[in-house]
Amino acid sequence: MDIMKRRNFLAFLSVSPLITSELMANSGDFYLSSSEYEILTSIRHRLRRVRRHVGYANFNLITFSDTLYYARNYKSIGAFTKQEIAFIERLFYEDPSKYGFYGKQTCFNIDNKINKKEVVKIPHTGHFLFRGKPEHDYHKIIADVGTTLKLTSGIRNVVKQLDLYVNKIYNLGGNMTKATIQIAPPSRSYHTVSDFDVGRIDWGYKNFTAEFAKTKEFHEMRKLPYIAMRYKHNNKDGVRFEPWHVEVI
Ligand SMILES: [Zn+2]
Repeated sequence: MDIMKRRNFLAFLSVSPLITSELMANSGDFYLSSSEYEILTSIRHRLRRVRRHVGYANFNLITFSDTLYYARNYKSIGAFTKQEIAFIERLFYEDPSKYGFYGKQTCFNIDNKINKKEVVKIPHTGHFLFRGKPEHDYHKIIADVGTTLKLTSGIRNVVKQLDLYVNKIYNLGGNMTKATIQIAPPSRSYHTVSDFDVGRIDWGYKNFTAEFAKTKEFHEMRKLPYIAMRYKHNNKDGVRFEPWHVEVI
């Protein structure tokens, strides 16, 4: 472990109640320092307040500048601090290969806009898809596999992806390495440009586990020639196995 990593790791040890022997054994992983973890926590709370303000579905599409605007103008959210904005910029711009993530950059503008005319809201899901092939593929999958399958996550603009990433880092006690192979950083998600997730109705969080690969829905999906599976076992992007994530080809 180099000095910087070691220092951060020790700082983390002194503050986090989440430390376990398993995390300690993973001493090659990158951790946030205690002060960075504090900033992350504050961002997490503020994003949650933004989401409450704009609604779950809209939160998938709003831009970074929309988010800063709402935060500045609504006391119930409160403006992002300079430190928080700098930290968000770091999460967007830093090279995640140091955390073991080698996927392509899919979004180059932190203030990426999604044109409402190019998207369609999928009823009863709280999610959107891009018009054209993604929307067409989705409806074809449901027709081919059955209505026990549904959209569990569609288009995610930068702020939504940031929110998922921040929550994952938070829940892993600041472990950037583990977080980044589970949730792509905000500049590297294919949800921002095309892909979507599906799951079994009423299966909840289990849809985002390897358990999904054991379902008959998954086996039916694997036979469909017009879609692919973006993150197979041992993919070269370094991302975990994600049987629920549909690659639009
Ligand atoms: Zn996905």
